[in-house]
Amino acid sequence: LIKAVDVTKNYGDFRALDKVNMDVARGEVSCIIGPSGSGKSTLLRCINLLERMDKGAIWVDDELMGYRREGNDLHEISDAEISRQRRRIGMVFQRFNLFPHKTAIENIIEGPVHVLSEPVKEARERALALLERVGLTEKANHYPSELSGGQQQRVAIARAMGMQPDVILFDEPTSALDPELVSEVLDVMKDLAASGMTMIVVTHELGFARNVANTVTFMETGKVVETGLASEVLSAPKSARTEEFIRAVH
Ligand code: ATP
Ligand code: MG
Repeated sequence: LIKAVDVTKNYGDFRALDKVNMDVARGEVSCIIGPSGSGKSTLLRCINLLERMDKGAIWVDDELMGYRREGNDLHEISDAEISRQRRRIGMVFQRFNLFPHKTAIENIIEGPVHVLSEPVKEARERALALLERVGLTEKANHYPSELSGGQQQRVAIARAMGMQPDVILFDEPTSALDPELVSEVLDVMKDLAASGMTMIVVTHELGFARNVANTVTFMETGKVVETGLASEVLSAPKSARTEEFIRAVH
């Protein structure tokens, strides 16, 4: 479903991503691990076109992201086309980026109503079903400031799901949470994975990676050091660097 080939991204003369390759099949959960500054967030930002890569290509469901091919030439696509492509990709950030002046249910229906032009009544019904799925039915009319971090993050996941994306990207979704709130968010993500959603998850939660992910990719200094089946990369890493990192995170 997602294919990244030789993705390279520079900030000035600093290379944040260096020929990164990645393949994520439909329904697969793919975890990205690696030390701070290794390019994990930059890769997610390139996939959903928040960031323009300098070289390489990313396909989502066989559609080239950000460009249109004519013969051998690549042309940048219009902002409207970029918005259309980005709609297929949900994103959940480390900091719950909910609209503070909207309630939980208003946060969820915002995109379906304004971007997908869904009737409000339908959008509300779907939003309520999503809130039930993340265990927050009774918080539908609460504002983000009235919710715990874990609850806010569950609303953020419901909001991403509300757009019915092809894939949801998670950038350290639990690392800003108090420890006792981590598992409620991971449980929602686990349920989402079980429902067949394609997910790319940047995380330091190796337990989640081990139990839920199909594949794990270890990145360092903008490069993919190792990628493979979660069980193999986490239990029997081929690279000494991967092993060292896994030991340090534990
Ligand atoms: P962390 O685990 O701390 O979130 P990360 O693996 O997500 O790290 P990135 O945020 O992708 O790392 O950053 C990769 C490198 O690119 C870092 O060295 C960072 O300083 C640099 N970088 C990221 N964004 C920018 C930017 N807008 N301008 C310049 N350098 C940047
Ligand atoms: Mg990051």
